[in-house]
Amino acid sequence: MTATVPPETGPDEAFFRTRGVVLVLRDLQTLDWPTRAQRAGLTTIGTHIFPHEVAAFLQADEGQAFLEKCRTLGLQVEHELHAMGDLLPRELYDRDPSLFPMDAQGRRVRDYNLCVSSETALEIVCENAARYTEWLPSTTGRYFYWIDDGQPMCRCPRCRGLSDSDQALLVENRMLSAIRRVDPRATLAHLVYATTLPPPLQVKPAPGIFLEFAPSPGNMTGPCGNGRPAGTTPPAMASCSTISMPTWKSSVRTGPRCWNTGSTCPASPAGSGSG
Ligand SMILES: [Zn+2]
Repeated sequence: MTATVPPETGPDEAFFRTRGVVLVLRDLQTLDWPTRAQRAGLTTIGTHIFPHEVAAFLQADEGQAFLEKCRTLGLQVEHELHAMGDLLPRELYDRDPSLFPMDAQGRRVRDYNLCVSSETALEIVCENAARYTEWLPSTTGRYFYWIDDGQPMCRCPRCRGLSDSDQALLVENRMLSAIRRVDPRATLAHLVYATTLPPPLQVKPAPGIFLEFAPSPGNMTGPCGNGRPAGTTPPAMASCSTISMPTWKSSVRTGPRCWNTGSTCPASPAGSGSG
């Protein structure tokens, strides 16, 4: 979920209009979270981790009761999901390994993500993203179908010229148009996290892609990268270890390759054929 900051805030108004908690299912199934969230002044509960497990939970009586309680209490419900393992089912590897990412040694890998140069893979991912959007509607219209947790993207000859961030954004642009056929107001997160910490440089975000800044691994008690013992900043964090999150976000939005200008996303450089 994102922190929505109003332009001006009165003395009695909350500064952040979206205040939420993201809960894995094993936590969500323990306590009366909606009541606690409302009592704490939160606006939103996000479910987590995988689409298939959240869909199963919400289709059961327990999940329906959770949704009803959130509705009654006026709480928004979003779903923050490491999704590629569900959007491109792993068993498809046996039929067509070219749908899956290539590692640095030239092997197609079943376990995570996809080859973004495979049009077939993109079509399958989009079809399943639309299906999950039917099963897991977001009450805010914000959707979160992330790449697999901390895993690299594809290094095949057709993909390796794109960074992991560019590859993720390429997929997100395609997914956004697919899920808008189900929810016309949908927006979709580009997750800045682990392998996608550097900004995308070659792929531009389609209108409706928003930035979700979750700099992991890191210390969230101060500016990005601060608070870690000297010499322990992970390489992926080095580029943003001395600047604060707002500065970094601003630089992404206003740099020479604008983050989201509202312009039409150019055709995908890897959008045809299979890799
Ligand atoms: Zn590839």
